[in-house]
Amino acid sequence: MAYFEEASDVLRRANVIGDCEIHGYEVLIDEGRLTTAYKIGAKMVKAGEVGADHVTFMEAIKSAVGDYGDCIGCRQSSSHD
Ligand SMILES: [Zn+2]
Repeated sequence: MAYFEEASDVLRRANVIGDCEIHGYEVLIDEGRLTTAYKIGAKMVKAGEVGADHVTFMEAIKSAVGDYGDCIGCRQSSSHD
Protein backbone atom coordinates (compact mmCIF):
# COMPACT_ATOMS: atom_id res chain seq x y z
CA MET A 1 0.00 0.00 0.00
CA ALA A 2 1.19 3.50 -0.80
CA TYR A 3 2.49 5.56 2.10
CA PHE A 4 1.94 2.72 4.57
CA GLU A 5 5.20 3.39 6.43
CA GLU A 6 4.53 7.11 6.69
CA ALA A 7 0.96 6.43 7.81
CA SER A 8 2.17 3.96 10.44
CA ASP A 9 4.63 6.54 11.67
CA VAL A 10 1.77 9.01 12.13
CA LEU A 11 -0.32 6.38 13.95
CA ARG A 12 2.59 5.71 16.29
CA ARG A 13 3.12 9.42 16.99
CA ALA A 14 -0.59 9.82 17.80
CA ASN A 15 -0.46 6.74 20.07
CA VAL A 16 -3.08 4.98 17.98
CA ILE A 17 -0.64 2.11 17.70
CA GLY A 18 2.27 1.09 19.91
CA ASP A 19 4.31 -1.91 21.02
CA CYS A 20 2.99 -4.71 23.20
CA GLU A 21 5.03 -4.46 26.39
CA ILE A 22 5.38 -8.22 26.58
CA HIS A 23 5.86 -9.31 22.98
CA GLY A 24 7.00 -6.17 21.19
CA TYR A 25 4.50 -6.49 18.37
CA GLU A 26 2.93 -3.35 16.98
CA VAL A 27 -0.62 -3.30 18.25
CA LEU A 28 -3.70 -1.10 18.12
CA ILE A 29 -3.90 0.91 21.34
CA ASP A 30 -6.58 3.55 20.88
CA GLU A 31 -8.51 4.06 17.69
CA GLY A 32 -10.15 7.08 19.34
CA ARG A 33 -6.90 8.98 18.82
CA LEU A 34 -7.31 8.72 15.08
CA THR A 35 -8.38 12.37 14.89
CA THR A 36 -5.01 13.29 16.40
CA ALA A 37 -3.35 11.13 13.75
CA TYR A 38 -5.20 12.96 11.00
CA LYS A 39 -4.05 16.30 12.43
CA ILE A 40 -0.42 15.16 12.55
CA GLY A 41 -0.74 13.75 9.03
CA ALA A 42 -2.25 16.97 7.70
CA LYS A 43 0.65 18.95 9.16
CA MET A 44 3.16 16.60 7.56
CA VAL A 45 1.52 17.00 4.15
CA LYS A 46 1.52 20.78 4.57
CA ALA A 47 5.18 20.78 5.57
CA GLY A 48 6.06 18.66 2.56
CA GLU A 49 7.27 15.78 4.74
CA VAL A 50 5.18 13.31 2.79
CA GLY A 51 5.01 13.12 -0.97
CA ALA A 52 1.24 12.58 -0.88
CA ASP A 53 -1.58 15.04 -1.22
CA HIS A 54 -3.93 15.59 1.70
CA VAL A 55 -6.75 13.26 0.62
CA THR A 56 -4.39 10.44 -0.36
CA PHE A 57 -2.51 10.58 2.92
CA MET A 58 -5.67 10.75 5.04
CA GLU A 59 -6.87 7.63 3.24
CA ALA A 60 -3.52 5.95 3.80
CA ILE A 61 -3.78 6.63 7.54
CA LYS A 62 -7.35 5.36 7.65
CA SER A 63 -6.52 2.17 5.81
CA ALA A 64 -3.27 1.57 7.77
CA VAL A 65 -5.26 1.40 11.02
CA GLY A 66 -7.08 -1.64 9.65
CA ASP A 67 -3.78 -3.51 9.54
CA TYR A 68 -3.35 -3.34 13.30
CA GLY A 69 -5.22 -5.23 15.99
CA ASP A 70 -4.60 -7.19 19.16
CA CYS A 71 -1.13 -8.57 19.88
CA ILE A 72 -0.77 -12.01 18.30
CA GLY A 73 1.37 -13.14 21.24
CA CYS A 74 -1.19 -12.06 23.84
CA ARG A 75 -4.01 -13.68 21.89
CA GLN A 76 -2.13 -16.99 21.75
CA SER A 77 -1.20 -17.03 25.43
CA SER A 78 -4.75 -16.18 26.54
CA SER A 79 -6.15 -19.02 24.41
CA HIS A 80 -4.14 -21.46 26.55
CA ASP A 81 -6.17 -20.65 29.65
ZN1 LIG B 1 1.57 -9.26 23.54
